[in-house]
Amino acid sequence: MSKILMRASNVTAVYAADSGQDVPAVDNVTIEVPEGQILGLAGESGCGKTTLGNALAMIANPPLYVVGGKLEIDGKTIDLSTLDKSSNKLHQPFRGATVSLLPQGAMNAVSPTLKIKDLVFDVMRAHDSSVKRSDAMDRATDRLKMLELPTRALDSYAHQLSGGMKQRMVTVISTLLNPRLLIADEPTSALDVSSQKALIEMLLAMVEKKIMAGVIFITHDLPVLSMVTDRLAIMYAGKVVENGRTEDLVHNARHPYTSALLASVLDPTEETRTKHVLGIPGSPPNLGNPPPGCRFHPRCKFAMDVCSKKEPAQLVEGSHEVACWWAKENPGRTIPMEVTVA
Ligand code: SF4
Repeated sequence: MSKILMRASNVTAVYAADSGQDVPAVDNVTIEVPEGQILGLAGESGCGKTTLGNALAMIANPPLYVVGGKLEIDGKTIDLSTLDKSSNKLHQPFRGATVSLLPQGAMNAVSPTLKIKDLVFDVMRAHDSSVKRSDAMDRATDRLKMLELPTRALDSYAHQLSGGMKQRMVTVISTLLNPRLLIADEPTSALDVSSQKALIEMLLAMVEKKIMAGVIFITHDLPVLSMVTDRLAIMYAGKVVENGRTEDLVHNARHPYTSALLASVLDPTEETRTKHVLGIPGSPPNLGNPPPGCRFHPRCKFAMDVCSKKEPAQLVEGSHEVACWWAKENPGRTIPMEVTVA
């Protein structure tokens, strides 16, 4: 059993809406990352993945507020409900050094007037105002050599690099302080297939070389997650509905939503080549007024009477957890994967 690097318990984060009603985008979520492993966080757009990533990285800004939960990492415990609600920002040493966030679209946010080496210096100086430029350059150069990346990239402007190289550079910069945990939000989404592969190989090498001790990899791209992750957590409507070893979830999904997600991304077979895959019928609920009971019940083919009345409790089956009444009534059974085509 691997040592746990990070455990986040009962995390709740809300958006303050103009109506005055708080909208819970992350609702009582508990996840953990074993040391040396990559946890994938998957689900449709708007299910709370990015919000959870921001909450765990302590960079939630209004109108997002982290209102509850506890974060344990590297021997430190942070009571999220005691954070300053006007900023939700934790002290600087924690961010970047203990948990680092690679935000969505980071590679396109790099200033066109800065060379990569200037960015390196800016990032390192933000965490240590006494750092010398030469020390920052030495660290970046060593890191690029360690990862077999060209050191000449430091002398380039972002627009002079390919998309794939730019994304690898921002990933390297976000881990220069050797964070214990990297939270990478959609790091491969804007990349072509060969650049995705190069980034994935680099992330795996970074974990192997212990540059960071664990990764949360956020994406809606299940084929990418099944290649790179050790464990998966599936989010729906602000909640984690199933989590476990990647292999178990991919081959033995116990939650209808996980199965439906997997059925939406198929290998090109005769059927999927000649027909239109419809994905999951319906759309995720309004989080300001979610359905009662199981939030997935209006879209679920396996729904029973109880599903619309009572929220399913978390079932623990070894290292596999699932919140579903069907799973409770059908111990050990895999949800049959049904492809919806037109
Ligand atoms: Fe479907 Fe019921 Fe399970 Fe929800 S609890 S996923 S509605 S079977």
